[in-house]
Amino acid sequence: MKEFQDFPAFFSRETGLVLSRDVLLSVYSSFRIGGPADYFIEVKSEAELTAAVRAARKFNFPFYVIGGGYNLLFDDTGYRGLMIRNRASSLKFIEEKGILEVASGTRLAEVVNLAVSEGLGGLEFLAGIPGTVGGAIYGNAGAFGQAIGDRVDEVKLLTGEGKEKSLRQSELGFGYRHSFLKDHPGIVLKASLRVERDDRNRIQKKVEDYLTQREQKHPPEGTACAGSYFKNPVLPDGSKIPAGRLLEQAGARGMRVGQAAVYPGHCNFIVNLGGATCREVLALAAELKEKVQRQTGICLQEEVIYVRADASML
Ligand SMILES: Cc1cc2nc3c(=O)[nH]c(=O)nc-3n(C[C@H](O)[C@H](O)[C@H](O)COP(=O)(O)OP(=O)(O)OC[C@H]3O[C@@H](n4cnc5c(N)ncnc54)[C@H](O)[C@@H]3O)c2cc1C
Repeated sequence: MKEFQDFPAFFSRETGLVLSRDVLLSVYSSFRIGGPADYFIEVKSEAELTAAVRAARKFNFPFYVIGGGYNLLFDDTGYRGLMIRNRASSLKFIEEKGILEVASGTRLAEVVNLAVSEGLGGLEFLAGIPGTVGGAIYGNAGAFGQAIGDRVDEVKLLTGEGKEKSLRQSELGFGYRHSFLKDHPGIVLKASLRVERDDRNRIQKKVEDYLTQREQKHPPEGTACAGSYFKNPVLPDGSKIPAGRLLEQAGARGMRVGQAAVYPGHCNFIVNLGGATCREVLALAAELKEKVQRQTGICLQEEVIYVRADASML
């Protein structure tokens, strides 16, 4: 019979990689919250990512894949399984197809940098969004009315059955902060993004404009948070109400539970003032939701993903 403690040796035989034990997840989350993961591995290529996920599946061992950890709230008790941090990074521009091929662990900042230096237009709105391509595709990250799904041509996935499969944009169910991957098991290995040749200076200017606008409304760089905590509610006509406004009108400003607090400059950000726990963030979020619900009847939905200690992508 397979035992939990047999997994590291099995994993090493299957992948040639060595697991770390009891690794604090707070280090890998922009919220700086989270207890230890039983097992942890950083993968640096598509092949390593594939091998790690396949080994966990073969052993039926709970696992979870993260990118930059910019949209996550880890549990105070950590994670009971294998946490895989994806750092598989590569970028290739295929001129004749107008496609930028990127490995899923590539940081969005690198994508934007390449777009500027090569004169590839269409991805400027990604400037300043922290995290990796895999995480961005999972949640269809975006800003200024655009989202990464708009630019996806194709995504190569590792399916729940451990097979590699390419899905076209139309098959990926992109919506507001949503993709097919939120309802189906699958790991993003690689993505093809559509780009257009454009003037470098024009691209650079757009990137700078977006960064300036972000600076004005977001907490300063390095603030411990995970971006907007709630999604903007969508009305039947498709328009969105800013969650920050609803929260402010409901009296969220100044609220805090322990070391978790509403960021005064933008009520849709929950920040860790130093030493906040996951419990405190969840308690504050619940209070905020209740206030908005009571005042407007709207039930806010979380954008930040709470990773339970027993979560699994198996
Ligand atoms: C200051 C700040 C500003 C932000 N601004 C924005 C913004 O303007 N717009 C926006 O949309 N978001 C924003 N965010 C949130 C965050 O940047 C995005 O959600 C980003 O896409 C997260 O990427 P990540 O690599 O860090 O994913 P993670 O946080 O590591 O993971 C998020 C989810 O994606 C899944 N995932 C990660 N990689 C893969 C993969 N290869 N295959 C399958 N699933 C995967 C994880 O399992 C998890 O469920 C902001 C966050 C911060 C801290």
